[in-house]
Amino acid sequence: MSDPATSAAAGRDGTGDDRDAVATRNHPAAARGDPLVSVRDLRTYYDERTVLSRSPPVKAVDGVSLDLFEGETLGLVGESGCGKTTFGRTLVGLEDATGGTVEVEGRDVTDGGDADWQRRVGMVFQDPDESLNDRQTVGQIVREPLEAQGWPRLSVAVEGVPEATVSGSGPVVGGRVERGVGATADAGSSTGTADAQTVTGDPEDGPDLTVSLGRGTPEVSVRERLPLTADDVTVSVDRGERPTVSVRVEKSVAELRRDRAEELLARVGLSEEHVRRYPHQFSGGQRQRVGIARALALEPDFLVLDEPVSALDVSVQARIINLLEEIQDDLGLTYLFIAHDLSVVRHIADRVAVMYLGNVVELGPTESVFDDPRHPYTLSLLSAIPGSGSPWDGERVTLRGTPPSPRDPPSGCPFATRCPAKIRPDDPDLPEDTWRALDELRVVFRTRARSEDSVVERARALVGLPVDAEAIDDAVADLFGDGDLPPAVAPVVDEAVALAKGGDDRAAADRLREAFGSRCDDEAPDAYATGDGDRESRCLRCEDDYRGVAETVADRER
Ligand code: SF4
Repeated sequence: MSDPATSAAAGRDGTGDDRDAVATRNHPAAARGDPLVSVRDLRTYYDERTVLSRSPPVKAVDGVSLDLFEGETLGLVGESGCGKTTFGRTLVGLEDATGGTVEVEGRDVTDGGDADWQRRVGMVFQDPDESLNDRQTVGQIVREPLEAQGWPRLSVAVEGVPEATVSGSGPVVGGRVERGVGATADAGSSTGTADAQTVTGDPEDGPDLTVSLGRGTPEVSVRERLPLTADDVTVSVDRGERPTVSVRVEKSVAELRRDRAEELLARVGLSEEHVRRYPHQFSGGQRQRVGIARALALEPDFLVLDEPVSALDVSVQARIINLLEEIQDDLGLTYLFIAHDLSVVRHIADRVAVMYLGNVVELGPTESVFDDPRHPYTLSLLSAIPGSGSPWDGERVTLRGTPPSPRDPPSGCPFATRCPAKIRPDDPDLPEDTWRALDELRVVFRTRARSEDSVVERARALVGLPVDAEAIDDAVADLFGDGDLPPAVAPVVDEAVALAKGGDDRAAADRLREAFGSRCDDEAPDAYATGDGDRESRCLRCEDDYRGVAETVADRER
């Protein structure tokens, strides 16, 4: 199957070498080491069928596969309703996955019940007005995750002796004694008592408290970012062949949580006095700062930022973006930054994923995707941003119609119903306007087939009377004009119209597809490796046989 207008011109430079089409995934993970988060074929469907309604499920996320690498910002963009928020919520366990997997450093966390993952991931929501409880003070809001996760749980390491028994007491409650993780203790020397109260954090973060035993007084050091000093910790040692180290934290749990909340608020640019205020006493930007402080409470590695600035004034947006960047630099966080504003994504994201109808259609380094989009949907999004810096210098590429229903996505390429670069069959040879009219008429029939008929229409169809005939004739006239249809088209269109007027819109759409469909209507494209192998695009035009996206759209739109 070839593209009649373009089959001779394979590549952007006329050679096709730069499009390096590969029909299997060749993800940039290989160049970046192991990912922090690996998502494979993730699906989130909402099945709302009842005894009265047999609608198919809404496929909000439908087969997303991507990796997130430590310390990067991955921007996720797409139109409203494309599934990007559902994807983010599924990653953090706020929605249940229907299928596929989410792995964190090789561990499956798809079901959202993994306690370690719950601590390591946070989310900042789009609308700070709705995401903060107006009945709670800001201090209570920021402390909430600490209380929910039983924070703090402090791990203790003992240095300077080959073996030690560690026990805890004092106000830090609930947990277990962790092995000494100091330089000279090993796993075999782990000791503890069942009722001990010094408890453990994540050993990967290093110990919270380190006790150094020398000949003199034991020295205590406290991990950075804890609201404690060595003066808050009392240590006593019962020396012997295996010393027993008793650790007592003098601050209460409530004090530790209050101090942590104050530190977090200071970190996001608010002050101590704000702790006792309520969300409605703050501006939108300040409320979003509170949301960020709450997301940071448990020292996460990974934040899902769901349109974190889109509800804010432009001047405030810049300040929040700067804050997020500073925090990322300081704490080494990994971000999934969900947005519909591509300018913001260009500023903040290292890589960008473009989502359409529940799946990622293009993924790659941000500058490279902006400079040279390889998917027609990405090109259309970029064409809508004045001064985006994209090399597209044509008119805005306006997509036809609205995205198909996620209940009934097209069976071939999900973008085929709106694509300005859709591959056309060799035969018949038709002007692009006629191809588009045929596509749009098929969308009309598909849409009608999905919609609920009125009782009258159903009754008319049952007795073989025409259904809504005038509307169908109007649609054909609107799409093809008042002149005669081309001879290669007219008989099939007449046949399809007759089927629709008889009440069978699905058969009408199928007839058009059978006569005028292309490879794009039959085949859901795989993710093609493209660019320098660090990009992927779900578009058949990545194959060498076809002309590139930008040239095709330029020819058709100009
Ligand atoms: S495969 Fe590519 S050209 Fe074909 S409809 Fe999909 S996006 Fe358009």
